[in-house]
Amino acid sequence: MPIATVNPANGETLRTYEAMGEEETERRLQLAEATFRTYRTTAFEERARLLHRAADLLDEDRDGIAEVMTTEMGKPVGQARAEAAKCAKAMRWYADHAADLLADEEPDPSDVKDSGASRVLVRYRPLGPVLAVMPWNFPLWQVVRFAAPALMAGNVGLLKHASNVPQTALYLEDLFHRAGFPEGCFQTLLIGSAAVDDVLRDERVRAATLTGSEPAGRAVAATAGEMIKKTVLELGGSDPFVVMPSADLDRAAEVAVTARVQNTGQSCIAAKRFIVHTDVYDAFAERFTRGMRALTTGDPMDEATDVGPLASEQGRKDLVELVDDAVRSGARVLCGGELPDGPGWYYPPTVLAGITRDMRIHREEAFGPVATLYRAADLDEAVLIANDSPFGLSSNVWTRDEAETGRFVRDLEAGGVFVNGMTASHPALPFGGVKRSGYGRELSGHGIREFCNITTVWHG
Ligand code: NAP
Repeated sequence: MPIATVNPANGETLRTYEAMGEEETERRLQLAEATFRTYRTTAFEERARLLHRAADLLDEDRDGIAEVMTTEMGKPVGQARAEAAKCAKAMRWYADHAADLLADEEPDPSDVKDSGASRVLVRYRPLGPVLAVMPWNFPLWQVVRFAAPALMAGNVGLLKHASNVPQTALYLEDLFHRAGFPEGCFQTLLIGSAAVDDVLRDERVRAATLTGSEPAGRAVAATAGEMIKKTVLELGGSDPFVVMPSADLDRAAEVAVTARVQNTGQSCIAAKRFIVHTDVYDAFAERFTRGMRALTTGDPMDEATDVGPLASEQGRKDLVELVDDAVRSGARVLCGGELPDGPGWYYPPTVLAGITRDMRIHREEAFGPVATLYRAADLDEAVLIANDSPFGLSSNVWTRDEAETGRFVRDLEAGGVFVNGMTASHPALPFGGVKRSGYGRELSGHGIREFCNITTVWHG
């Protein structure tokens, strides 16, 4: 894939970039390692001061960088501004909390008195340069949720961003630089995916985090495994959205629409499979489909747009194939499902009913505004359908019955259970999945500790 900005709203190539060669990559690796040697010794207060400065600069840049994101990957511009604001918030959260999250821990003396130590403590030390392989769908947020904790922990970052968001990738390097972080604390490597393997094998790179598709995750995890390097993987999702009879149906249907089409449906934590108790199935399907139909699809620079173009032509082809396969196997199209004429990689909000296990869309991730509807006879069947997926990122359940809530929290195979709401990430809450959605956690104290050397300090 060329490294280029191609506007998804019209298919026009606006800027192309030459990939960095081996020499430039080597220079940046050297710089990362050299910077780490000193940066690792800086105080939390100093790192926090720099990260607050980065957050302030990002706030100042919000409108401009939002337009860049929209131009590169097509998200509605209001959502792009919200993404930038969320990044600034996460930076401030880590700037304010990292020292506490990584404070030395002293085990209870009575627990360790037979260890022979006069004193024991556990210290979180940084690991070194961490490679971050990131996707285009939240081109700022995916990076910041790695970078903010990594920099606060004393690590340095090397970003290999998706090839279709080079301007956003370069902006991020510039942002941290302007904030005053030493050169080498955060660098963008403008390289294609084929060059990732060599970087990951380099001894100076101590760990890697990847957010993206399953094949990319598998490739990075295989090499990291061979090199015995720690990884965090945030991969795909096909989150269930379960609606039970006691739910507030109007609210559930309204939130279901947002949960499905946020970011034009290209979100790992978007609700994708809507599993509805048979008693309220028809009523929910009618409200939900009405809401999906009412959305405004169009120019992502237009403030009134709810759903923009998909980020790439290939992404749209993949989605069309999934829908066609389902329809061929008997799925009913309740709305959407037809490609519009004209330029740009648009796809309409679509609802499919009558989904069966043999359809690809039942097991694969629909990365666009396509919802699938399932009818469940009871809670047990709802849980069965929800768990009948290779993915386990997050889940949404709508019920006002406490016992039912307890069952879902106990039984859903996912890294999150959101009750009467939609999944959203928050700096203070762990984020990540199980099964083929990946492993490890980002955000919160769990996220910042992923790339730390948890050191036992024993005094005789
Ligand atoms: P992708 O193709 O996997 O790309 C993600 C990143 O991985 C890009 O930087 C890409 O570089 C790189 N890459 C691709 N193949 C690679 C390989 N073999 N070795 C090393 N790096 C490789 O993913 P996508 O289709 O752009 O993004 C959508 C996917 O990301 C969806 O499955 C979505 O669910 C997932 N996602 C997950 C989360 C989460 O938090 N769990 C969040 C957002 C998105 P190039 O661009 O140069 O190919």
